[in-house]
Amino acid sequence: MQAAGYVGRFAPSPTGRLHMGSLLAAVASWCDAKHQGGTWLVRMEDLDPPREVAGASDDILRTLEGHGLHWDGEVVYQSRRSELYKDALEGLKRNGRVFPCACSRKDLAGIAVYPGTCRVGLPPNKEARLWRFQMGEGALAWEDLILGQTSFEARSLGDFPVLRADGFWAYQLAVVVDDRDQGVTHVVRGSDLLDSTPKQIQLWSALAQLTSTDFHNSLPEYGHLPVLENNLGQKLSKQTLAQPVQVSQAMASVMRVLRWLNQPVGDGGIQGAFESGDVHQLLLRAAEQWDRSLVPTQSIQWQGEGQG
Ligand SMILES: [Zn+2]
Repeated sequence: MQAAGYVGRFAPSPTGRLHMGSLLAAVASWCDAKHQGGTWLVRMEDLDPPREVAGASDDILRTLEGHGLHWDGEVVYQSRRSELYKDALEGLKRNGRVFPCACSRKDLAGIAVYPGTCRVGLPPNKEARLWRFQMGEGALAWEDLILGQTSFEARSLGDFPVLRADGFWAYQLAVVVDDRDQGVTHVVRGSDLLDSTPKQIQLWSALAQLTSTDFHNSLPEYGHLPVLENNLGQKLSKQTLAQPVQVSQAMASVMRVLRWLNQPVGDGGIQGAFESGDVHQLLLRAAEQWDRSLVPTQSIQWQGEGQG
């Protein structure tokens, strides 16, 4: 849709409330977009009803607002976009980039990378359960906005699902279809998603072929932020019982995130904005002096609230 200019996005899953790790990604992607005069979209990745929590989408949006993270345009909900994903899958079937797979979770137990069992056809007397995308072979490299030159072997990632056995759309397909549809030019997100990027680049390439769009000119730039870890080296998440952020603590939380991101917070402008008590002003000031090259490339350890 957007022809020119920076279009960034923040794409939470409504599986729980926003915690400090997701706030870090939101603040960084917001500052990166606003520093370049760009737009910042919010997309709700609500494609996994079994994992979702009632009311979480609204709660996340209220929490973003409470932290001064105003978004541009309408919030997009993936759950309402099945038609787009269906069209993309049909196209990928036509150009032979996906194949039906009969393997169950049990068949693949203990196997880290899909071994390609059904790539050349379903085994005899087996029925298709899901659809997988063919990763192909060779190295997939990109110049990461934060990590620099980054590369993966396609083989080490394996063919991944685009339509799941339970009938839900798989994460990778929906993300790429939406980033394309929304004209996203910059994807700034946590390094926990680093190995999704080569998969998304391959999918992007396959979908660009279908519509004869220029792959290299349309592909977004990717930047991967440090993840927050607890003292056990676990990524902060709902599974590791990360505490939700509190809107009443918005100023302090944003300042803490900016410090983690190595952004200059001792500066008079930032301090003035901090003392004004207006978190949106604080963010605007932070975006003005945002310096992507200062963002650390290693995980950040954090004990959690009240423990340092
Ligand atoms: Zn299979």
